[in-house]
Amino acid sequence: MRQNSKHLILGASGQIGSVLTTELRKKYGASAVIASDIKIPKKESSQMGLFVQIDATSYDALQNVVQKYNVSTVYLMAAMLSANAENYPSKAWDLNMSSLFNVLNLAKDGFIKYVFWPSSIAVFGPSSPKINVPQSTIMEPTTVYGISKLSGERWCAYYNKKYGIDVRSLRFPGLIGWQSSPGGGTTDYAVDIFYKAVAHQPFECFLAENTALPMMYMDDAIRAVIELMETDSKKIKVRSSYNLGALSFTPKTLYESLLPLFPNFEIKYTPDFRQEIAESWPESIDDSSARNDWDWQPQFDLKRMVDDMCYNLRNK
Ligand code: NAD
Repeated sequence: MRQNSKHLILGASGQIGSVLTTELRKKYGASAVIASDIKIPKKESSQMGLFVQIDATSYDALQNVVQKYNVSTVYLMAAMLSANAENYPSKAWDLNMSSLFNVLNLAKDGFIKYVFWPSSIAVFGPSSPKINVPQSTIMEPTTVYGISKLSGERWCAYYNKKYGIDVRSLRFPGLIGWQSSPGGGTTDYAVDIFYKAVAHQPFECFLAENTALPMMYMDDAIRAVIELMETDSKKIKVRSSYNLGALSFTPKTLYESLLPLFPNFEIKYTPDFRQEIAESWPESIDDSSARNDWDWQPQFDLKRMVDDMCYNLRNK
């Protein structure tokens, strides 16, 4: 059914949205996928398809586009991320919540059928288990971003239970990809380090060397979104958001995995305010619900990810 429906990506110029747009277009055809963002992308031609400028906080603007293009599936990727949200708490809350309400209400009002909305490992807090954090556990996030994501999860579950909305969600770990730049999160170091290594420049890391965090290669993350959205609705048991695991490593481990390729690469650790955010998050994820319900399986281990990142960045 989804093969014939139109897909709208909100926040399509961002780190994940831009890659998701490209992959959805490969899968469903360029004319079936509409990219949108509040800012116009620099390399629109590379996305090869329709782009519309929309503010995701405007219900009317969303409704117009959804009706005009007969959209049935919306991927809400517009948000303010963890590091930026600490600097602009009320702006982050407004954007993260009003865009989600708009999309859920579009479904409730019958304009769209399917919603994808990403949550984050930021829903966990210092009182959650650090290692293999379970799907359901104590959740007391201490960041602006985490509070908005946990609230969003509860609203997704509520709209599903109360109104039958087919909303699906993943708790993304830190995402690493060569195709796009990160947008102000606490795991951005794990992308930035590659650019410095490939450019033969030293790297200053804003996290301490032994800060382990859950991470994932972008290819796995995009595949997870597509596989989740293609799963039969009856199999989706978790309507808040699925834990999603792949990798867990520290800045030191990542640095050491780059040394065989760049023996002269140098790193210096200068932790800033993001260290406290990172320390409030788990180190690794138990994603057995995702594995059991819709057969989730990551494909990239650390070595494969490092090799693929370096290969693609060198050719970029
Ligand atoms: P990003 O910051 O790179 O991209 C967000 C995009 O949203 C930007 O292009 C921005 O212009 C756009 N945007 C901002 N305000 C908007 C508005 N009012 N209307 C329309 N567009 C607007 O973020 P990302 O890394 O691509 O993250 C996408 C989603 O995934 C977010 O919900 C984020 O919380 C979640 N997530 C990301 C990561 C990660 O590592 N990147 C990890 C966990 C969860």
